Amino acid sequence: MQQTRKVHPVSDTAPAVWKPEIAEVLPPWGRPRLADALKRGLFGHCPACGRGKLFRGFLTPVQACSQCAAPLARIRADDLPPYFVILITGHIVVPLMLWYERAESPPTWLLSAIFVPLTLAMTMALLRPVKGAVVGLMVHLGHPKPEENA
Ligand SMILES: [Zn+2]
Repeated sequence: MQQTRKVHPVSDTAPAVWKPEIAEVLPPWGRPRLADALKRGLFGHCPACGRGKLFRGFLTPVQACSQCAAPLARIRADDLPPYFVILITGHIVVPLMLWYERAESPPTWLLSAIFVPLTLAMTMALLRPVKGAVVGLMVHLGHPKPEENA
């Protein structure tokens, strides 16, 4: 049986494996695995290397990591961290409040006295680690781009 040679429909000299013209350029600080980047960011460490600090204030990232020079201040997390904080807090506080309301029928002032501080405490406790994890996710996804560093 004679084998037929597959011929590229356009050109006979086409390469066997297609490669994009623009190859991915790894930034000097590298691209960490997703789990590493999330965990490092969650604990306030540089998502790229895990050794430097991520924040210089409550939510302000350092200009660049002191260990690997990743330009962390250029990563724009924008509204994603508050979105996740609201999502998490709402899914905990609202069911608790509804359960307590049905179980005990407390007066409104008591519900407010319990659940308003609880909501504030949860949002303040979650905002920083969630922002760190979001920055970690963005570092894993390749932000900021190395060419932006020039
Ligand atoms: Zn670093």
